Amino acid sequence: MDLDWILNHLGEERERYFGAVAPPLLQSSNFAFPTVADMRAQAGDEFGHHFYTRGNNPTVEILRRKLAALEGAEDCLVFGSGAAAIAAAVIASVSAGDHVVCVQKPYSWTRRLLADLLPRFAVTTTFVDAADAGSVEAALTPGTRLLVLESPNTLTFELQDLAALAAVARPRGVRTLCDNSYASPLNQSPLAFGIDLVAHSATKYIGGHGDVVAGALCGPQALLREVFRGPYMTLGAIPSPHDAWLLLRGLRTLPLRMRRCAATALQVAAFLEAHPKVERVWYPHLPSHPQHALALRQMRGGSGLLSLAIRCEDVSGVERFCDALRRFLMSVSWGGYESLACPIAAFLPAGTSAAAKAGQVPANLVRLSIGLEEPDVLIADLAQALDRV
Ligand SMILES: *Cc1c(COP(=O)(O)O)cnc(C)c1O
Repeated sequence: MDLDWILNHLGEERERYFGAVAPPLLQSSNFAFPTVADMRAQAGDEFGHHFYTRGNNPTVEILRRKLAALEGAEDCLVFGSGAAAIAAAVIASVSAGDHVVCVQKPYSWTRRLLADLLPRFAVTTTFVDAADAGSVEAALTPGTRLLVLESPNTLTFELQDLAALAAVARPRGVRTLCDNSYASPLNQSPLAFGIDLVAHSATKYIGGHGDVVAGALCGPQALLREVFRGPYMTLGAIPSPHDAWLLLRGLRTLPLRMRRCAATALQVAAFLEAHPKVERVWYPHLPSHPQHALALRQMRGGSGLLSLAIRCEDVSGVERFCDALRRFLMSVSWGGYESLACPIAAFLPAGTSAAAKAGQVPANLVRLSIGLEEPDVLIADLAQALDRV
């Protein structure tokens, strides 16, 4: 992958825009034509032309080309959120009566889509522990159309062997979708393992600055045209050109940000793992992670996202830890320049036992998103907060 070319040159066409170094922000809802013949020529193929911004827009198109190249995909569609990208991929792939197989603990709104919304339209889902290709294979039925993966998984970062699962699904005509938000396009290429579609929450590493909510879907053009004609155009969950412009700006530093936050996260994870107030750490690039070998084989690098379980009786210990943090902001989301802490305890009643579970996640789990700060500053902050547990 010629990363510098993709990030600095691909799709920019600066000669069309006065040689401007930064890409044009074409904040226009529609595009005008001099003749009926010109209008007719564009109307037939909104996927690749500029007609109306719900379909395509020149600023968004620059982003589409760069994200497609980063994923090694033929094309990309950009959405108004990661949830919209995932929902569009799923909706384009199923009809009433069809069946989906999904990883056990997907992102919460992926679960809502599959467990709550789609059953109203007679689409059912089986959730399986996809660490084992055999249990995925066993869950497939003659009606299964789609396998939904997320590697590493949300909050506890279970991995799936993407090549093995693609090899299970493809011969049976089951389409595969992988949420690649954790790794970013830089650290994992699901399409290269035989996965059909790759989704991102661009809100996270692609944007990287805590200022945009957006999503992306990458894959073969034929599949994306199917998504485009269906949910993309009909549901209209598109990004604004301004959001696309901010994402292009965020992309310029993606390699630097990923390298920095992964290196710091590994230091933080090692510090936490050795701390007596920490019961457990989840980070795929720690040698103690049960799927460390798979992480090294399948991913080109780590990310800044890890979780720890606080050693305490009930969630008041988690509260004392989180309330004492001075450098980490307490917030949802992740993948930005700023370090964040997200305690599961915030979604549970005060006093819940540390041994309880929220869904399948321990009540004493805190997810950390490591940003671009100095590692020593973050570790010192965690150390003083752990003293309060
Ligand atoms: C945040 C997130 C999403 C949803 O993305 P939005 O941009 O918030 O809609 C999907 N998958 C994962 C793994 C996420 O963390």
